[in-house]
Amino acid sequence: MRFAEITGHEDLKKVLVSMAESGRVPHAMLFYENEGCGALALALAFVQYLDCTGRHDGDSCGECPSCRKISRLIHPDLNFVYPTATAIKSDSQTRSASDLSLGLWRELVLSNPYFLENGLYRTLGIEKKSGTIAVSEAKSILEKMSYSAVEDGYKTFIVWLPEKMNAEAGNRLLKMVEEPPEKTLFIFITHAPEKVLQTIFSRCQSLRIPPQPKEDVARALVKLGTDGRTAEVYAGISGGSIGKALAAISGQEEEAEFMRLFSDLTAAALSKDLMAALDVGERIAALDSREKQKAFCNFAGDCVRKIFMLQQNMPQIAWLSPEERGFFTDTAKRAGQGFCRKALGYLDKAAALIDRNVNAKIVFCDLVNRMFLSV
Ligand SMILES: [Zn+2]
Repeated sequence: MRFAEITGHEDLKKVLVSMAESGRVPHAMLFYENEGCGALALALAFVQYLDCTGRHDGDSCGECPSCRKISRLIHPDLNFVYPTATAIKSDSQTRSASDLSLGLWRELVLSNPYFLENGLYRTLGIEKKSGTIAVSEAKSILEKMSYSAVEDGYKTFIVWLPEKMNAEAGNRLLKMVEEPPEKTLFIFITHAPEKVLQTIFSRCQSLRIPPQPKEDVARALVKLGTDGRTAEVYAGISGGSIGKALAAISGQEEEAEFMRLFSDLTAAALSKDLMAALDVGERIAALDSREKQKAFCNFAGDCVRKIFMLQQNMPQIAWLSPEERGFFTDTAKRAGQGFCRKALGYLDKAAALIDRNVNAKIVFCDLVNRMFLSV
């Protein structure tokens, strides 16, 4: 990634460039930010600049062999450590959990370097667990440091969220962070500097990555493909975080998609159109991850609860927005009294089967068929 690809943060880019030009690059740096404000993007642009053989106009060239490898995150001397679940076991002394899920990490960073912490857990399929950086990660860093750099430039370790590192891992790393071999660079990126082990924190030169002005967030969103009006709205409520704005936009899109599926399903069931209901089942099964399929089950469960509250004459606790009132009131009138209780059971069961890796097509065709029969 080149500095030019990052919207805003012009002052910070200058600081980083002058650090590199003066040859006074600290061996351990700590970037701290509110999540989604661009610290990882800046770290990657900085590393690319440091190793670039064709720097010009305060930026890396983007074309030399080193730039090409760093921009695709495949440079042999660029290493990443990030929180994972303890369930992901390292398979040997040399491959830590971060190494094992490197493919997923790369895909995530390349598609959106502003991702949030729960975006990583979602990608790794550990959404419900809390990630940690275990001692095996520290061992793996030490091992990698014992080899000399494959190429001529820096050997870099980007540690994302060092606040998730346990004390044992931190202590193992300490000496290396204190006195690393020549041309080694640690960049720690934290969302909670007060939780980073004090011994690590005190050895780093820290750099605050501030929230971005609304205009910069909006410009970045447009560059990433959001239309101008949506970008403006979400830039205004993002707290200066491109990552939070992107997550809110995709959450809204996901919710709209789930709502379409749920309303198509109830419409098919109420009009006794089995083929249309089965078609919805296939669309649910085609949602692009098991996490998303389960999220649909939760979403549909909430919808069914709203219908139930309306049927019980308790609209005040159905929490309906003005836009959804018409749909839910109509469905509550037309669905039978026993529908909600049965539907909730079916949805819970479908989510549990998906969790156990049962074929999604079978699960959701069965689900829509049962919903069809019980409405
Ligand atoms: Zn270059």
